Amino acid sequence: MSWRTDFAWLVGGTAPSWTPDLDGQKKNLEVLAAVERLLELVVELGSTASYLSQAEVVLPAEHPWVKQAEAARKALQEKLSQDRTAEHAAEYRQTLNQLKKDYITAYIASHSKARLGVAEDKTRNALRKDDRLLALRVLAGVSLMPTSQLTAFEESLNGLKSCSSLDEPTLTTAAVCPHCQFRPSAEQLELIPAANRLHKLDDDLDQLVANWQQILAGFEAGTAPYDTFSEAYNAAYTELAVRAQRQGR
Ligand SMILES: [Zn+2]
Repeated sequence: MSWRTDFAWLVGGTAPSWTPDLDGQKKNLEVLAAVERLLELVVELGSTASYLSQAEVVLPAEHPWVKQAEAARKALQEKLSQDRTAEHAAEYRQTLNQLKKDYITAYIASHSKARLGVAEDKTRNALRKDDRLLALRVLAGVSLMPTSQLTAFEESLNGLKSCSSLDEPTLTTAAVCPHCQFRPSAEQLELIPAANRLHKLDDDLDQLVANWQQILAGFEAGTAPYDTFSEAYNAAYTELAVRAQRQGR
């Protein structure tokens, strides 16, 4: 029965071991009523327990919420092992619902740290078409330019993940964002939020342009073949002029 597996999260991986010996107490209506109440409780709490057992493997093991859930589960298991009449049903319900609420808060915080939102995604797209980057791409065609720097920059820019569709109601039914399948325990988590990494990439681009300008200045000063510089310079700026014209600027 599925409620048994769902509820296993609470009762320690097995079906309840404290099921009263019904053979000896068949006529005890009170016990039967209590068992019925327990079964109802199991069904009711089963889906939340099942959700929480998924949630426990979504967040990294060292996350404070995981520790909190483990402790709460142990405490509940102990109480359940003694509560034969579902006397504390309201308390169990409250504990599980609170755990779920805390999980949703923790997950959303982690999700918004790891993902770009709508505005940030626009900023990223603008950065992809930024004149500085376009000039570097053209210049990358010139031998002697350190193109690996540009490749690394573009990889970082493209590596940022966007997701702006997650909201709280969605997470009440699914423990993982259905739009981007974000699983903090399975992703290489960055310490710096995605939005901050995006801002840093803008600064990095300035730095990259400055570096390359220095290399070009070296060409101009005659420490590198002038023709190469001249060709690259003209190609880059012709390209930029054409793009600017196309965009009606
Ligand atoms: Zn998402």
